[in-house]
Amino acid sequence: MNDRISQLLKRAPSSELVVVEGWVRTKRESKTVCFLEVNDGSCLKGLQVVIDLQSFDQSELLAKVTTGAAVSCTGELVASPGGNQAVELQARSIVLHGEAPVDTYPLQKKRHTLEYLREIAHLRPRTNMIGAVARVRNEVSYAVHSFFHDRQFSYVHTPIISTSDAEGAGEMFQVTTFDLDNIPRTEEGAVDYAKDFFGRKASLTVSGQLEGETYAMALKNIYTFGPTFRAENSNTKRHLSEFWMIEPEMAFCTLEGDMQVAEDFLKYIFAHVLDNCSEDMAFFSQWVEKGVADTLRSVVEKPFVHMTYTDAVAELEKNNKSFDYPVHWGSDLQTEHERYLTEVVCKGPVIVTDYPKEIKAFYMKLNDDGKTVRAMDVLVPRLGEIIGGSERESRLDVLTERMVSLNLDPADYWWYLDLRRFGSVPHAGFGLGFDRAIQYITGMQNIRDVIPYPRAAKQADF
Ligand code: ATP
Ligand code: MN
Repeated sequence: MNDRISQLLKRAPSSELVVVEGWVRTKRESKTVCFLEVNDGSCLKGLQVVIDLQSFDQSELLAKVTTGAAVSCTGELVASPGGNQAVELQARSIVLHGEAPVDTYPLQKKRHTLEYLREIAHLRPRTNMIGAVARVRNEVSYAVHSFFHDRQFSYVHTPIISTSDAEGAGEMFQVTTFDLDNIPRTEEGAVDYAKDFFGRKASLTVSGQLEGETYAMALKNIYTFGPTFRAENSNTKRHLSEFWMIEPEMAFCTLEGDMQVAEDFLKYIFAHVLDNCSEDMAFFSQWVEKGVADTLRSVVEKPFVHMTYTDAVAELEKNNKSFDYPVHWGSDLQTEHERYLTEVVCKGPVIVTDYPKEIKAFYMKLNDDGKTVRAMDVLVPRLGEIIGGSERESRLDVLTERMVSLNLDPADYWWYLDLRRFGSVPHAGFGLGFDRAIQYITGMQNIRDVIPYPRAAKQADF
């Protein structure tokens, strides 16, 4: 395989012939010389290919080499007289693999809006911005695995088709092979799921946590990293219907350990991106969110602030007149409240703990006050919640009681309750929305621009 442009740009000039393969971003021509900028996605920068028109004998071909065309250029790397790069390719020959006609190629050299680029999502990775996002996504995925691997967490593949609603929030996409025009019914007229593919009602998973817990009860520390689906009809800049989630689960661990891992984990992936994507981060800092790289650096260096929900509400109440939804003890925190806490009160990431049990899921450990649970959300500026986690309720009687009071049938969760019957132990975990993390890291405004093919209400193109 030929070297990538990221590698070629680091080489010293040499008479050895090299081949650069990629797509033409720009072409500039004078009477005597033609410059192509070729990009292969390995880095933001392209390689400048210089063609001396007086000695070059492929002028017919060169006429068809336009923005978007796929080319292989062979030549020598020479010192570049221009200030933009150390080396450039002095081309001897060019192979034109695929043309991109000027009158139809949608990515001509000019700035396009992100909305327009969403309409050509199949071509948008060829732009500087979406290419940079793709590289950051790739590096962060790698960092996720290396963080957990280094700490002896096992990567567990939890099912995508699920028959339990982990969040109890009812935001699930159903999975069925029924002919929707002719749904089998029981004698009472209810949908007869016994006749469906799985013989019962099934959905796409909203979280791998419950299954993740079962493996934590055997392997001690595990994590999942996979797609998650939520049919929430909220048309926001931070929600997708299909997103990727990372969910570590740790046995012999309480909320304190959980928060420490969450903080270490975020700092690790931020530091990894700063160290390994400096060129892309400089791009985001300049064009997307001013100074975002410096912000990340300062997040890595400072300890996160901790605050109980009760203290957070006391802070928020002082500012109630400026919120669309005034807060009181017991209310769920909206994005405006989360952002106020992290942006104005704490001026950086904050971990809010011990929420009222009424606004959190059934599996969270009840505090001795009987009113709050050992939950924690990590909030960050611009986005609000990025991580949601908790210590899990490990006491069989308390957990069963909570399920009953929430109208969940303990029989449906028999295997989950077995974990509390056999070798139960304090355990805790959290979920990080991968796409939301990428949004935070890059400063991108809309989550739909950090995932290749966004799925949201009324949007599943491509
Ligand atoms: P939110 O209040 O923002 O909807 P949530 O409380 O529903 O979040 P959790 O169920 O705790 O979120 O999920 C864990 C993490 O997954 C969240 O902190 C967030 O980063 C991410 N997440 C949740 N829902 C979505 C979504 N629809 N699109 C993208 N990421 C999401
Ligand atoms: Mn949600």
